[in-house]
Amino acid sequence: MKLPITIASIFLVFLSQAFAQQPHCGTSEKMLEALENDPSLARTRQEIESFTQQWIENHPEGSSERVVHTIPVVVHVVYSSSTQNISDAQIQSQITVLNEDYRKMNSDVSGVPSVWTSRVADCEIQFALATCDPDGYATSGITRTETTVTDWNGSDNVKFTSMGGHDAWPAASYLNIWVCNIGSGLLGFAYQPGISASLDGLVIGYRYFGRPSQHSSYNLGRTATHEIGHYFNLDHLWGAGADNLNCTADDGVADTPKQEAPNFDCDIPFPHETCGTGVNSDMFNNYMDYGDDVCMFFFTNGQKSRMLAALNGPRASLLSSNGLNQCPVGIEEQMLHTSINIYPNPTSDFIHIQSDQSDNLLTDIRIIDLSGRMVLNMPNIRLGHAAIRLSVGELSEGTYVLELRSDKEVLTEKINIIK
Ligand SMILES: [Zn+2]
Repeated sequence: MKLPITIASIFLVFLSQAFAQQPHCGTSEKMLEALENDPSLARTRQEIESFTQQWIENHPEGSSERVVHTIPVVVHVVYSSSTQNISDAQIQSQITVLNEDYRKMNSDVSGVPSVWTSRVADCEIQFALATCDPDGYATSGITRTETTVTDWNGSDNVKFTSMGGHDAWPAASYLNIWVCNIGSGLLGFAYQPGISASLDGLVIGYRYFGRPSQHSSYNLGRTATHEIGHYFNLDHLWGAGADNLNCTADDGVADTPKQEAPNFDCDIPFPHETCGTGVNSDMFNNYMDYGDDVCMFFFTNGQKSRMLAALNGPRASLLSSNGLNQCPVGIEEQMLHTSINIYPNPTSDFIHIQSDQSDNLLTDIRIIDLSGRMVLNMPNIRLGHAAIRLSVGELSEGTYVLELRSDKEVLTEKINIIK
């Protein structure tokens, strides 16, 4: 008798490990944790839900004037290795994915089973990296922070500079996205509206961000598409819990069928019905299920309505953000720290930057013209005794702002290019 039990035990352990290793979304757990930590959040969430239902009732699909909303995004890359320090191009590819998916411009939308095609939504939401930071400086919409934390273990600590991460930019004006080694078997997680500002936003594993990314199944940037759905107050198709085994829970969306649990992977034959709805299948190609990226390609009109309710309610402040303004580059320069030397200035061909300190301060170096356009960008330069030599001979004659941006401060100085 012993042998079969041992085999069964090994099999069960194997199964539980296999499930534990299946990367998944952490939003349900994080929301539950937040509700336990903050008793007032339940009431706030209830008020938001009442508002949402009312707004949807007052704005039937197709009744509103069509407006495309653009959301200012800041991406905080927090890294402990060069692999985790994903490139600007990788980040931009994620913005492209979001703009395709939220505007129904993704080419794979053609794979939607015909029974659902009339429900597929152009959500009329788009995304752009911020051009203006909270202090009014021109920005790339990306911050980079080197950290000694090698695994964040699914925690929110990455949202705090004091814990080795990076503080949020004001959540009322920016969608904050932290990209890091998230850990804990998670692809990403988000918070739904009502959460405190310091936690608000998304955390995404660096292997799942952008297109193509560094993972074999979650490689098309759909983790962020899914998590932003939560950010705009969507639940998973099976509701707010880990599963829905008695089929009583729902996601508050009329045109997504009930389903009993997440669907993983891609090999699900259509139809696949788990809650006896009689006329429908689980909507396993929806962004709010758990399929591989290549199998997730649409939101419904009902989901769009919930997201627009969020943008007209708890997320409305994003629409009056200054984050996408043409940011005035202050000719009012901040005096550079006395330990940093810039020479020669004026110049016609090269500028040297050198620090008297030997601490090798990690700095982003940028040159911005007076219209706010970035004309040179050198991220992650270590400033120290050895002078950094910048070639500026290609720039037209005129005045520019040289910006040195470290984790702790931003220093700017006027430079003059002469010919
Ligand atoms: Zn999720």
